[in-house]
Amino acid sequence: MTSLPQWDGPIYWQGPELDMWKFFTPKELACRCCGKLLIQEPFYDRLVACRIVAGIPFIVNSGFRCLVHNMNEGGSKSSSHMFGWAADIAIGGSRDRYIIVNAAMSVGITTIEVLGGSWVHLSADPRKDSRILF
Ligand SMILES: [Zn+2]
Ligand SMILES: [Zn+2]
Repeated sequence: MTSLPQWDGPIYWQGPELDMWKFFTPKELACRCCGKLLIQEPFYDRLVACRIVAGIPFIVNSGFRCLVHNMNEGGSKSSSHMFGWAADIAIGGSRDRYIIVNAAMSVGITTIEVLGGSWVHLSADPRKDSRILF
């Protein structure tokens, strides 16, 4: 069993049990080329929490990627997308970027990338260095 990096930030959800697929459909998070889906529960929990805190619609550009799709997308060989630990959320502008990054940091998303410009990469991959923003 993998364990997440220790997180001493705020507890991200204390409300009643959620319908966890209310905010994302499996299809949205599945591989764009073959429809396979692997999503790590600790990451998914954080993604849902991030969406709730942000309070804006999340459009998933990329969720799970199989090996072939990751290669075609030019993703790194150790991409967290291939292991169900990452999702890219499209942003409409700078305010969306701020809202999503702010929410992500508050719910234990441990790696955030905004270099893509038009999307925010969110990950909680325990294999990688945590608390990184690039
Ligand atoms: Zn695929
Ligand atoms: Zn990504």
